[in-house]
Amino acid sequence: MNCPHCNKTIVTPSGYRESKILIIRDEPYKTEYSDYKRPRFQPHSTPKSILRDEMFRLGVDFNRVRFANLWKHIPNKKEECFQEMKKSLFSETRGKKAILLAGADVVKFFTGYNVSEISGLQVESNKLSASIIFASVDSTTAMSRGMGEIRFSIENFVKKLIEEDVL
Ligand SMILES: [Zn+2]
Repeated sequence: MNCPHCNKTIVTPSGYRESKILIIRDEPYKTEYSDYKRPRFQPHSTPKSILRDEMFRLGVDFNRVRFANLWKHIPNKKEECFQEMKKSLFSETRGKKAILLAGADVVKFFTGYNVSEISGLQVESNKLSASIIFASVDSTTAMSRGMGEIRFSIENFVKKLIEEDVL
């Protein structure tokens, strides 16, 4: 599928549609595009697989989670593109009880804060009705800076999900 405004390839939200839990990253990772060709002998982790493995370690089945990006395609400067993505993202957030904002842009957009100031913490957003919202660095940081930051955020997020019986 392509963007009606700029014709870039679009990545739509994935995972369990009825989930009460939504994870939002900034933009699609290369492996999420339908035309991505995985190198034959180079298995590697992706931002999604890092989230999946960490949540699995804490007993959360990733198949029960909904997954979206703030941008549906590579970010650009077109206002029409962003407006449309915002609209479709807001419809994804509707009815969700718990949302993990995982990335600098998505944290800034929903909370106004820099992710480096609030990663790992429960936050508030007047743009979201979910009762549990956590901010986190993007899981790509695990690839460059190690697992610590993302692991801390996910542990806090999942702890809250268990506490509030959202799972
Ligand atoms: Zn576009």
